[in-house]
Amino acid sequence: MRNTDLLRIAKTYGDPVYVYDSATIISQFNRLTKAFSSVKSLKLNYAAKALSNITVLKLMNSLGSGLDTVSIQEVQLGLLAGFNPESIIFTPNGVSLEEIEAAAKLGVRINIDNLSILEQFGSKHPNIPVCIRINPHVMAGGNSNISVGHIDSKFGISIHQIPHLLRIVELTHMNINGIHMHTGSDILDIDVFLYASEILFETAKNFKNLDFIDFGSGFKVPYKEGDIETNIEELGKKLSSRFNEFCAAYGRELTLAFEPGKFLVSEAGFFLAKVNVVKQTTSTVFASIDSGFNHLIRPMLYGSSHEIENISNPDGRERYYSVVGYICETDTFASNRRVNEITEGDILSFKNAGAYCFTMASNYNSRFRPPEVLWHEGKAILIRERETFDDLVKNQVDTKGLFGIKETANVK
Ligand SMILES: *Cc1c(COP(=O)(O)O)cnc(C)c1O
Repeated sequence: MRNTDLLRIAKTYGDPVYVYDSATIISQFNRLTKAFSSVKSLKLNYAAKALSNITVLKLMNSLGSGLDTVSIQEVQLGLLAGFNPESIIFTPNGVSLEEIEAAAKLGVRINIDNLSILEQFGSKHPNIPVCIRINPHVMAGGNSNISVGHIDSKFGISIHQIPHLLRIVELTHMNINGIHMHTGSDILDIDVFLYASEILFETAKNFKNLDFIDFGSGFKVPYKEGDIETNIEELGKKLSSRFNEFCAAYGRELTLAFEPGKFLVSEAGFFLAKVNVVKQTTSTVFASIDSGFNHLIRPMLYGSSHEIENISNPDGRERYYSVVGYICETDTFASNRRVNEITEGDILSFKNAGAYCFTMASNYNSRFRPPEVLWHEGKAILIRERETFDDLVKNQVDTKGLFGIKETANVK
């Protein structure tokens, strides 16, 4: 979509605002599907936590996607968005047996990632098939914060515990219908991914009634020019042929599943914010925007580097700015970044704002969370309203005359 479209949206819906381009989501979905076209049965389960607006979930549903969920609330959002329970998989970590039972009751697929819950669930519900999440102990990423396959990770059942797992399955007579791994958010190296896949195949041989093998996600998308990106086409070619070979040896056509989040929605998103103040200090020129890590926490949380464009002055001379937020804490989006010359009132566009941006937004500093707009077939569709003061206070209890203080009416 064009910068002029973004500017118009900022004008219509105010700022800050999140915008998602449906065409990018659709083309990423089709690209991944195409890369694995030689597999008979492929299922993409979109990871809802990346961007969980119900309209986005409906879009995924319309494309034939399934849904990967990590909380009972995401399961409910998926059902609300019209997904069949069978096309939702519940892949939580560290949740209670009760929550897993509640999800099973809604009819969704269950993925269990520890032996304690596996044994309890299997003993109580031997007839409900479950998938198991394996930790192959493979470091697939560059940043240790988001590589979850390593030895002291909290995710998955260690491959070294397979003998114990098999005893539990045998004693409870439960049915294992899938094998799953998700090794983290940054697959840099296809060979590392294929190596981990071999461990999954090896594990899969222990189970006779599998329906699917789920290879998780972690596909890397570029954040700026020259960034490494997972070569989906090459991965598709290599993994598909290995998967087909495995199915032939296994004696049955299995479904190859993935659960991409970032890959499908990251590049579709733009975050638009207005520059309130340009402030020169002795060493730096700060551009302070009408937002902060309350709306986009990734730069402060992970050190993610989102590209920033001044869409109000795209042809202006490039100068160095530190783009910061209005939160009363260090709140830096970019340090000494070259951006087209900024004037107060300009709209900055943050790229790759589709995944883990709005879903991580908070009300810190008692600010409202921004609206979300879907750009679909040349039209802007509001898919979430900006919060209001009522949203900030709606769950707070009116304690009447406690401490001798009465609330003031008419603060708005
Ligand atoms: C978060 C998550 C994903 C999605 O990861 P991306 O890096 O966004 O593709 C997939 N599977 C599970 C189990 C997850 O927790």
